[in-house]
Amino acid sequence: MISDDWRGIKLMHLFADYHMHSTYSDGRGTIKEMAEAARAKGLEEITIADHGPRNIGVGVKNAELLLDIKEEIRELNEELSDLQVLAGVEADVVDLAGAIDVPKKIYKELDMLLVGLHPHVWPNNLKTAWDYVAMNKFQLYLSPARRKVRTTNTKTLVEALYKHDVDIVTHPGLGMPLDLEEVAKACVVTETAYEINCGHGYQTVAEIEKVARQGVKFVLNSDAHFTSSVGELQIGAEILKQAKVPVEQVINARSH
Ligand SMILES: [Zn+2]
Ligand SMILES: [Zn+2]
Repeated sequence: MISDDWRGIKLMHLFADYHMHSTYSDGRGTIKEMAEAARAKGLEEITIADHGPRNIGVGVKNAELLLDIKEEIRELNEELSDLQVLAGVEADVVDLAGAIDVPKKIYKELDMLLVGLHPHVWPNNLKTAWDYVAMNKFQLYLSPARRKVRTTNTKTLVEALYKHDVDIVTHPGLGMPLDLEEVAKACVVTETAYEINCGHGYQTVAEIEKVARQGVKFVLNSDAHFTSSVGELQIGAEILKQAKVPVEQVINARSH
């Protein structure tokens, strides 16, 4: 039951969607098509965050391409008056020390750095190939592996958050076990937003309540791969409402 004085989602206006893909990785819409879809939904800001280059089969061809994408976005922004398109990337963690697949000299040129754990990456070394890539496969079938890899995943992601200037951690716990409270604590210290991923829609009210208690800032994102999914944030908004997360704790929301 939600009390009347709770300043929550009913008063929340979601003005941005900071995670979507284009045809530069595995998205089906061009940057311009995604931007047009965002305008049609009345969004004020979006981030194009294609997959980092080490994401097997879906990543951008190379990290340098992100600078060309940025230039394309800059030109597009000159045409658009009512929407701001930001240039970002959804980088992959590629070793146990928290290295990511986009060099600092490139990500510091971008507007936004998103980092997420993905199981199908080219790792930096053999130990990462075994402890991280292979173990995240085994854990699907073996519970001892699940416990072990949960610790590895958590440590690896937390290292990445401390090592890089990450704006958003994408889909925490999706298909890869994590200690979500530990991740949230690291997000608070490193001022990283914790994503509620509306495209995958796997997060529960109970887990978001637990995470919210750490004081983390949330972001609702679509992770759109199609124009039709841009700005589709209702699933996440419903979770926030049920978890009674106030609007001040959501970076892409404001009170009406
Ligand atoms: Zn992802
Ligand atoms: Zn994504």
